[in-house]
Amino acid sequence: MNVGIVGGGPAGLFFAYLMKRQDATHRIRVVERDPADATYGWGVVFTDIALAFVRDVAPELYAAMTRHQEVHDAMRIVHRGQAVALANNTFHRMARIDLLRTLRQHCADLGVAIEFGRRVDGVDEFADCDLIVAADGAASTIRTRYREHFEPTIDLRPNFLAWYGTTCLFEPLSLIFRENGDGLLIAHTYRYSRTHSTFLVECDPQTWRHAGLDRMAEPESLAYCAQVFRDDLDGHPLLSNKSDWFRYPIVRNRRWSWRNVVLLGDALRTGHPSVGSGTRLAMQDAIALFDAWRACGDDVEALLAEFERRRRPGSDALQAAAVKSTEWYESVRSRMHLDPISFAYDYLRRTGRVDHADVRQRDPALAAAFEALHPEGVPP
Ligand SMILES: Cc1cc2nc3c(=O)[nH]c(=O)nc-3n(C[C@H](O)[C@H](O)[C@H](O)COP(=O)(O)OP(=O)(O)OC[C@H]3O[C@@H](n4cnc5c(N)ncnc54)[C@H](O)[C@@H]3O)c2cc1C
Repeated sequence: MNVGIVGGGPAGLFFAYLMKRQDATHRIRVVERDPADATYGWGVVFTDIALAFVRDVAPELYAAMTRHQEVHDAMRIVHRGQAVALANNTFHRMARIDLLRTLRQHCADLGVAIEFGRRVDGVDEFADCDLIVAADGAASTIRTRYREHFEPTIDLRPNFLAWYGTTCLFEPLSLIFRENGDGLLIAHTYRYSRTHSTFLVECDPQTWRHAGLDRMAEPESLAYCAQVFRDDLDGHPLLSNKSDWFRYPIVRNRRWSWRNVVLLGDALRTGHPSVGSGTRLAMQDAIALFDAWRACGDDVEALLAEFERRRRPGSDALQAAAVKSTEWYESVRSRMHLDPISFAYDYLRRTGRVDHADVRQRDPALAAAFEALHPEGVPP
């Protein structure tokens, strides 16, 4: 098969890898807008489940990915300065650049051609391809250019985010809620290497404006956030990597493909950083498209229908959970009156996919502490 892929992120590269590994005669070309050494952001986090599917389908890639990773099986919530540990939340973390380098190396070893530093504006240059994969991220150029065919909706969430790093090593993964005269700021932070942590700051629009963050240049914003979280950062700096404020887009598409062009990863549908699921979804998409090809062969129309049939239900369910999680953060100010245990418990149940029995099984100490505080009974 002759495959053209727009975008060399996790979705495009993983699909390229799976196809070429299966059959060396596939001709696969990836075009990536950024130079090979560029990356946006710091570390990324995966749940245990999220990595298991990579291990199942590509154990050699899993081994290479996990060489770089940090694992910890708990997280904590810091509310009113008090830390509450949440047991049995296993997270794998790694630098986003290490993940991309590993994928690129595996692709290159198989002979996948990756062209860096060129932005693709349409699909004409792939006219000779049997299949064209638009894996060009949440702001996908291809999806936008052919929007009348894909019918996307972009739900820009109200909260503002800035993706910083720091040399302060947050272990375990910590969610830190800090109130000040401007409102509420939240840090999602975790160590992802021996030397660095991701430090993602989130706040609602009222806080953002009241603090004057809408009028600040990036260095001032960084200084403001460093000040808010100074006790947590313990003398370490916040670090920037084009860390401008942005609002997260929840992307959906009514149609997943048009002719022989298919959307994959964030271009198709986004999750949300608060459930650490975007890379997982992107890589699961790649597996589903690969499985569809194995089921249908080179019949592109059938394989694209099969891809959607296999993938849409799981994708929709995870996105729905991501949206619930997003809403929890957007409305969290109304829960700041809760004591730290009840607050942490509420967090655990935020996606609607975890009930009290699940909490009791996963973290009996927290469930018991919550029950003791709520003798009137617990929500089902
Ligand atoms: C703040 C933040 C934190 C996150 N944290 C996590 C996390 O902890 N865990 C997790 O799983 N996910 C996380 N994500 C989500 C994750 O980064 C994405 O879901 C994932 O990278 C999606 O992979 P992708 O390949 O679909 O898209 P991308 O990774 O966006 O890759 C798309 C690629 O296409 C290229 N491109 C774009 N336009 C063009 C064009 N016109 N021509 C050629 N190339 C183009 C881009 O340069 C990019 O390399 C986070 C996202 C954000 C914003």
